[in-house]
Amino acid sequence: MDLSEKRRKLEEIAGRVAKCTRCNLYKQATNPVPGDGNPEAEIVFIGEGPGYYEDQQGLPFVGAAGKLLDKLLQLTELERKEVFIGNVVKHRPPGNRDPLPEEIEACQPFLDEQIKLINPKVIVTLGRFSMDKFLPGEKISQIHGQARYVDFAGKRYIVMPMYHPAAALRNVRIMEEIKRDFQKIPMFLKEEVELTEEDGNKDEEEQLSLIN
Ligand code: URA
Repeated sequence: MDLSEKRRKLEEIAGRVAKCTRCNLYKQATNPVPGDGNPEAEIVFIGEGPGYYEDQQGLPFVGAAGKLLDKLLQLTELERKEVFIGNVVKHRPPGNRDPLPEEIEACQPFLDEQIKLINPKVIVTLGRFSMDKFLPGEKISQIHGQARYVDFAGKRYIVMPMYHPAAALRNVRIMEEIKRDFQKIPMFLKEEVELTEEDGNKDEEEQLSLIN
């Protein structure tokens, strides 16, 4: 599928998000926040749900956590325009409360379609709600920064669970950890080179465990 076709399909998904009434979140939201970025991204970042500024602008990660995400991206070899950024729920939970399981479930088909369409090499989950989608039952404090293979919708992805940037803004230790974790991203984007036995790149290789 070429770039313009992918872009058209992402816009079509965004159009359906805008009209979605599958859960109640749309009722109090100002704008839908379907996700934004490069339709051919090699890496997709998945957050939790829009906050105040995202709801105002209809774009993901544009508030304080988004500014930190931009800085963290500078630690990688990536620019924001090269990546795709989405969320598990696409309308703002009132007062920034956690999304409810039924809201996550209702919104899931949109995110799944986006991932399948973009077909990235690496998925970075930001926070526990997006981690749960790919690595249910895990603890973010134990597995953040470790890359895993995850089979999802007929394809194998490298999934890297990370702390949520908002958590890093509240906790200095998490800030240091998230910076270290982001610095590993370029290495996993080059997975063919980095993950073979021959490379002798044992540290990174050991981080990759096969699940599913
Ligand atoms: N936090 C999220 O999880 N997503 C956003 O888009 C903004 C803040």
